[in-house]
Amino acid sequence: MAAEPMQVTLLGKQFVLMVEPFSGGYPVYSGLMVCPVCEAVWARLVWSSLLDKPYKEIRGFMCYSCAAENPHYLHPDLRPVGGSLLDNPTTGGVNYALLDAMPEVLVRREFQLHLEFYK
Ligand SMILES: [Zn+2]
Repeated sequence: MAAEPMQVTLLGKQFVLMVEPFSGGYPVYSGLMVCPVCEAVWARLVWSSLLDKPYKEIRGFMCYSCAAENPHYLHPDLRPVGGSLLDNPTTGGVNYALLDAMPEVLVRREFQLHLEFYK
């Protein structure tokens, strides 16, 4: 399948990434990352072709700040890295299609988040 444009908004910064529509055999859906602690929509990942559609999957993941303050709330197997854009239950846990499409600045951010978690 050919990659398609996806608009990614992270903490107010916008990116347009060319993302494969499937990851690990699962379809990649538009989604809003909502922090269950501070209730902020800290990231928005929406297929450009669906920007005017009303439905986006709601994903309850802690933002980086809340995860740093409440690490005991992170699930070690299911949602271990607070603030990660890669965490996606509908793609089997990790959205590798998104990782493959990320520009260097987002890959570096993910790398730092994962290093902090696993140190
Ligand atoms: Zn938060």
